[in-house]
Amino acid sequence: MPLILDGNRVRDQIKAECRPRVERIVAHAGRAPGLAVVLVGNNPASEVYVRNKTKTAADLGMHSETITPSASMTTDQLLDLVRELNARPEIDGILVQLPLPGHIDSQRILLAVAPEKDVDGFHPCNVGLLSTGRPGLRPCTPAGVIQILKRYEIPIAGRNTVVVGRSDIVGKPMAMLLLQENATVTICHSRTRDLPDVCRTAEILVAAIGRPAMITAGYITPGAVVIDVGMNKVESRAEAERIFDPARLADFDRRGSLLVGDVHPGDMARAASAYTPVPGGVGPLTIAMLMQNTIDSAERRTGLC
Ligand code: NDP
Repeated sequence: MPLILDGNRVRDQIKAECRPRVERIVAHAGRAPGLAVVLVGNNPASEVYVRNKTKTAADLGMHSETITPSASMTTDQLLDLVRELNARPEIDGILVQLPLPGHIDSQRILLAVAPEKDVDGFHPCNVGLLSTGRPGLRPCTPAGVIQILKRYEIPIAGRNTVVVGRSDIVGKPMAMLLLQENATVTICHSRTRDLPDVCRTAEILVAAIGRPAMITAGYITPGAVVIDVGMNKVESRAEAERIFDPARLADFDRRGSLLVGDVHPGDMARAASAYTPVPGGVGPLTIAMLMQNTIDSAERRTGLC
C-alpha cells in the first residue's frame, strides 16, 4: 500500500510550532505578528482563500486585517495602498490576493511590496535570494511541498525529480527549492517533448499544471513519490467518469462537482510509493507556510533573529 502524505497532519505540526513563536514575539515586542491581506473586488474563490488565511492567523494569535478596495480601483491607487502598508511598523507581511482585476498592472503591484514584507515570496528580490541560495521569504506552496517531503523523511538529495509546470508561483520556485535540497531537477512545461518519458525518470514527480488528472499511470515510474499541487474543479460527468471510482462518482452526482488534482487519483494510488491526495495534500500547507513566513518576517523586524 502506498503511503498517503497527509497535508493536514503536516499543517497541524507547523501551526503547533508557530504558536510559541507568536507568544515570544508578543512578549518581546508587545505586539503580535501582523498580516495585511489586500483583496480587490469580489472574486468568490479569492474571498474563501482570504477568509481561511485570516481565520488561521487569528487562531495562532496573530494580528490580521483584510483590506477590500472596490474592483474599480486603479493601479496607482493600489500602489498607494501598498506603500501605506509598507510604512506601517506593525505590519510584517503584505499579501495582495491574485488574480487582480484585468485593468490593474499586477507586476507593478507585486514589485511595490517591500521585499521584507513579501510573505508570498513573489518579489524579484526574494526570487533572487532563492535562486542564489540565500535566506529569504519563499513562495508558500512549493515551500509546503518541501515540508511534506522532509517531515515524511523522504530523501531528496541526489534523487531525480521532475517538476511539471514552470509558473513563477509554483513550478519555478519548486524547482529551485528542490535544487537547493540537492535534487537533480528537470522542469517540464507545455512545450516539453515526450512528457510521459521524462516524467518516468522521476523518483519524485511534482505536478503543478492546472489540468484535471492529466498525469496518468503511464507518466509514473512504479515506486515514485508523487506530489500533486493541482486543484481543479471537475464539473462534467464524462470527465468525472474518467477520473473517479464509483464511490467518488456518487459524491460527484450528489454535489455536481468535485475537486481533483493534476494526477489521476486511482493511477497515483496504484503506481506511487507515496503520494499527496487532493484534497488534503499540498493544499493545507500553503496557508501554514504563509503564517510561517509572516512570523519569520516579524522575528526579523522585531530584532528577534
Ligand atoms: P499556471 O497556469 O500558471 O502554470 C501551469 C504550468 O503547467 C505552465 O508552466 C504550463 O506550461 C504547464 N502546462 C500546462 N499544460 C501542460 C501540458 N499539457 N503539458 C505540460 N505542461 C503543461 O498554473 P499554476 O502554476 O499557478 O498552478 C498549477 C496548479 O496548481 C493549478 O491546478 C492550481 O490551481 C494549483 N495551485 C495549487 C495551490 C495550492 O495551494 N495547492 C497554490 C497554487 C496553485 P507553459 O508554461 O508552457 O504554458
